[in-house]
Amino acid sequence: MNTMSSKANILIIEDEEAIRTGLVDVLIYHGFTTDAAADGNTGLDKALSGKYDLILLDVMLPGMDGFAVCEHIRKEDREQPIIMLTAKTSDEDIIQGLQLGADDYVAKPFSIAQLILRIEAVLRRSGLTHETDHIIKLNNTKQDHQIKIDTRNLSATKNNQDIHFTRREMDILVYLYNHADRPVPRDELLNKLWGYAKNLDLETRTVDIHIAKLRRKIEKISAKPDYLVTIRGAGYRLMVE
Ligand code: CA
Repeated sequence: MNTMSSKANILIIEDEEAIRTGLVDVLIYHGFTTDAAADGNTGLDKALSGKYDLILLDVMLPGMDGFAVCEHIRKEDREQPIIMLTAKTSDEDIIQGLQLGADDYVAKPFSIAQLILRIEAVLRRSGLTHETDHIIKLNNTKQDHQIKIDTRNLSATKNNQDIHFTRREMDILVYLYNHADRPVPRDELLNKLWGYAKNLDLETRTVDIHIAKLRRKIEKISAKPDYLVTIRGAGYRLMVE
């Protein structure tokens, strides 16, 4: 058991009592502290207190559903790590959750070992961006325009407009920045940032969804990226100073 997990405080928002109490027990056994809510509104109130290192959020909830809870949390706190619990491996559920700003998802029924790995990977990442330079300068391919990203504030300025990133988006930018001398394959991002060992189709799309969101934020035309470019057959590359 590592020291990080023994400190992390996890909020579980799940209406099914057997799953909720099972998760509480298993997380306490693994050294986490926990809190729990059985519906979306109570869960959101607790989540907005900001005292949780990570939130496990079920999609199907009475009252406000998990998507709405996720969206509300993200509006208030771009850094709050969130893992969605999806009822089945439904592409739409997973994609919608990620687009609303969830960091990751775990499909039910999940194994405890898999869930713990995902939790530890998300917690590890949320500490990652503090270790690097806090200003990242990106150049476009024509070298006539620059964008400055502040990794600590999860923000950037583009044409006098403020852009805000989620923690997950920033983790991707920082990883690409630290490896900007080469294209980074999607498999590597999945492995290093999400902690996935193998490359399943849906997981590859998880990377693509985040890259698309980043491009909408930093590029002039997201279909023709200047900063976050695709090197065909090799991966993504960030154009830095
Ligand atoms: Ca449920």
